[in-house]
Amino acid sequence: MHGVRPKKFLGQHFLKDQNIAQKIVNAISFSGNNETIVEIGPGTGALTVLLSKKLFKEIILIEIDRDSIAYLKKHFTADNIKIVEGDFLKLTPTDYSISDLSIIGNFPYNISSQIFFKVIDHKNSIKEVVCMLQKEVAERICAPHGNKTYGILSVLIGAYYRTEILFNVPPEVFNPPPKVDSTVIKLQRKENISLECDEKLFKKIVKQGFQNRRKTLRNALKPIFLPMELTKEEIFSKRAEQLSVEDYIHLTQKIQNWKI
Ligand code: SAH
Repeated sequence: MHGVRPKKFLGQHFLKDQNIAQKIVNAISFSGNNETIVEIGPGTGALTVLLSKKLFKEIILIEIDRDSIAYLKKHFTADNIKIVEGDFLKLTPTDYSISDLSIIGNFPYNISSQIFFKVIDHKNSIKEVVCMLQKEVAERICAPHGNKTYGILSVLIGAYYRTEILFNVPPEVFNPPPKVDSTVIKLQRKENISLECDEKLFKKIVKQGFQNRRKTLRNALKPIFLPMELTKEEIFSKRAEQLSVEDYIHLTQKIQNWKI
């Protein structure tokens, strides 16, 4: 045993099942020894030990828990492994600016949405994400439009990444078992990630639209102060969840052109 006692407030559920850990690590596309990978929340290294067998140029471990950090420092001493103690949400590794990173992790479930918002902010540097998270959140991220669970993250992630649900994982394979089911997903950055619209406005419209997801966009977007003449158009009679990423891009174009 690793001797690190799991802490609930850090969302620590250590993966016990080697086969599942291997399946997660295998899901990362690996195209040679020039790649850098960031693992979020390595804990006691269930994934790290398998990652370290692949010839990554650099493996960056970001972990907030001091006990886990001590464990990792003792067990992972290879030159290509960099151990960073800190909160992933607050760190901006310098590597973000220099390379195309992959991210892997059995995410702390309480902050997984925030992790994805951060991924979106750094989409230029992050080419791929393979991660485990709460099943419902995984489904929400990968949901197509028209689906009840389709939401802000489905649109924002879907604008820049292709998303894929890989497999589900039951609670029993963790210590301690979480109260929820888990799912592993994969995000792969699209070839073209510059949207043909004002991206800040796009984000604002998506967020505002889903604030009141039951209302028509005509009503939900009222705080953005759009001219009545524009909101007469048919698209404003729809609700936020009915629009695809492309629809949101068109809507943003419409709104920005009107403003000019
Ligand atoms: N990867 C390990 C542990 C997963 S549990 C395994 O599969 O067994 C989630 C891990 O995320 C814990 O180790 C926890 O300490 C860490 N963590 C929680 N919040 C974090 C944060 N804000 N930044 C970095 N790591 C965090």
